[in-house]
Amino acid sequence: MASLAPTPTSGYRGRLAPSPTGYLHIGHARTFWTAWQRAREASGALVMRMEDLDPDRSKAIYAEAALEDLRWLGIRWFEGPDKGGPFAPYVQSKRRPIYLAAWRRLLRRGYLYPCRCSRKDLASAVGAPHESSLPGAPGMQSNGKLEPLDDEPIYPGTCRQLMARAPQLPGPTVSDIETPEGYNWRFRIPDGQPIEFDDRNLGPQRFVAGEDFGDFVVWRRDGVPSYQLACVADDFEMGITEVVRGADLLKSTARQILLYRALGYSSPAWYHCRLVVDHNGNRLAKRHDALSLRSMRQRGLTPMNILSAELPVEA
Ligand SMILES: [Zn+2]
Repeated sequence: MASLAPTPTSGYRGRLAPSPTGYLHIGHARTFWTAWQRAREASGALVMRMEDLDPDRSKAIYAEAALEDLRWLGIRWFEGPDKGGPFAPYVQSKRRPIYLAAWRRLLRRGYLYPCRCSRKDLASAVGAPHESSLPGAPGMQSNGKLEPLDDEPIYPGTCRQLMARAPQLPGPTVSDIETPEGYNWRFRIPDGQPIEFDDRNLGPQRFVAGEDFGDFVVWRRDGVPSYQLACVADDFEMGITEVVRGADLLKSTARQILLYRALGYSSPAWYHCRLVVDHNGNRLAKRHDALSLRSMRQRGLTPMNILSAELPVEA
């Protein structure tokens, strides 16, 4: 298995973006391996970025383990927390100024509004959702990412309407606010607008804003930028040309395309990998300990065993 990373000779820039909220499993291995192969085939560069924004669930031990497990698999990156590079730091928790700048840019352009709804307000507005589908609830994070979740209930627009009805008084306006502290900030989606993109693996994709997802959070009340905002700001800032990730993030891609447009950035190309499922057809989660790279490695399996195993994938 080739393990040397040749010097990039093309403009292709891919990335690996693990969330250190648990040990990586065989599904991650497949997706990250694909990202590595795509970068190699394009004679491009691969960047490692640690997505550790979730203050409650991110652990240094998992970040270390992710780098080690991916190295063990034979994946090599050119830039990353362990290697440095022109876009350092490669750890999201140390990149706050970049996310704040993106938040400000969206705010000045009129795309954001503060949301004062509590989790309870949201729950009563959408009927009686499952506890686990509420934003911020543990256990539903897509691939260990922060909200918004691909399946989160559509935001009913309560605070958007309040903003629209507010009298236009002279004086400071929302866009004069300097910091996001104290509120959830939501992105105003263009209701009814289709968002289409051609996925390099799964083909043409189509989502409709307001039907498939609603106004989503870009900055959380607890001071943390959302996954969507951080991901777009970083992929743009780091010059990523193709995003390879799991198909559980397809709807996030539609949201992110709206962010790229609103920020005035061009989007990268997309390549979503089908998800590995267990024998019951369920997606793998970080709690599937038996399928973690760690435990498979301890049981004596080799990278080749793991990458060549016949595994069921989601239709
Ligand atoms: Zn609200």
